[in-house]
Amino acid sequence: MATVRAGTLHVVATPIGNLGDLSTRAREVLSTVAAICAEDTRHTRQLLNACGIDKPLLAVHEHNEAEVAWQLVERLRNGESLALVSDAGTPLVSDPGYRLVREVRAAGLQVSPVPGACAAIAALSVAGIPSDRFCFEGFLPAKSSARRERLAALGHEARTLVFYESSHRIEESLTDLAEVFGPEREAVLARELTKLFETVFGDTLGSILARVRADPDQRRGEFVLVVRGAADDGTAALLEGQRLYAKLRHLLPPSQAAKLAAELSGAPRKALYGGAPATAAGDASAVDADAHEADGSDADLP
Ligand code: SAM
Repeated sequence: MATVRAGTLHVVATPIGNLGDLSTRAREVLSTVAAICAEDTRHTRQLLNACGIDKPLLAVHEHNEAEVAWQLVERLRNGESLALVSDAGTPLVSDPGYRLVREVRAAGLQVSPVPGACAAIAALSVAGIPSDRFCFEGFLPAKSSARRERLAALGHEARTLVFYESSHRIEESLTDLAEVFGPEREAVLARELTKLFETVFGDTLGSILARVRADPDQRRGEFVLVVRGAADDGTAALLEGQRLYAKLRHLLPPSQAAKLAAELSGAPRKALYGGAPATAAGDASAVDADAHEADGSDADLP
């Protein structure tokens, strides 16, 4: 495939710290496109200068992205090729670009990735925490109440969780994480990846918090926190089953709703419809009682 194609927006990953991580293909694309859309043009100019690349830069950030997208679409329609970069790592991953990419695709034009560094993936690759399924949660809310609410909603998530955090909030966020998930939950903190003070440590949330509190150096820089998912005791499936059942029972007879919800979620059908209440099923049991009365039938229950 040609390095740069006419009328294409190339989404180019840049390093998250170590300049050596800019790929050969990224350099070629950045040297060849007509112009580069950058989150912060001064920041990207430094990267380009370090690589000996001189190209026009266009500011495309979260505050102007929607407005400038149509102009960029016009340039692409006229056959120009453009690149999109963010300040570090992969654009669109906790970075601007989503609206532009959407507009370009909606216009029927090509968007092509030049993959490379991404802090979340780099952290996952060194954490030693199950990585076959994971949820990227990005930044947690800044306010503690909203943060705890978000964490509570993730409390039963069985997949590995990946969070981004800055030096301003790392201690507060770890405090909330240890309280909501418990200090024994397995976790790894990846700090300043690929940079001089790269540190990857941890075994539990409690131990990470203790080290971050004790050592101011461990509160500096940029962080990715990788947290093992909740032990799979069936609670996540049960909660999902209850959620589905609550929706489906408005559309189907309760027994069929329970059957379908059980199939889709993996929760036991009995726990959704007239079964013994499980820990997290308190609400659903109440719902079940209503459903039984309204339906007047449990003919196909086992
Ligand atoms: N688009 C980027 C990517 O692909 O990873 C992420 C951009 S987001 C605005 C910046 C956050 O990513 C930081 O606050 C930090 O959580 C994480 N991050 C970026 N570089 C990092 C690094 N070298 N080490 C650890 N975390 C990093």
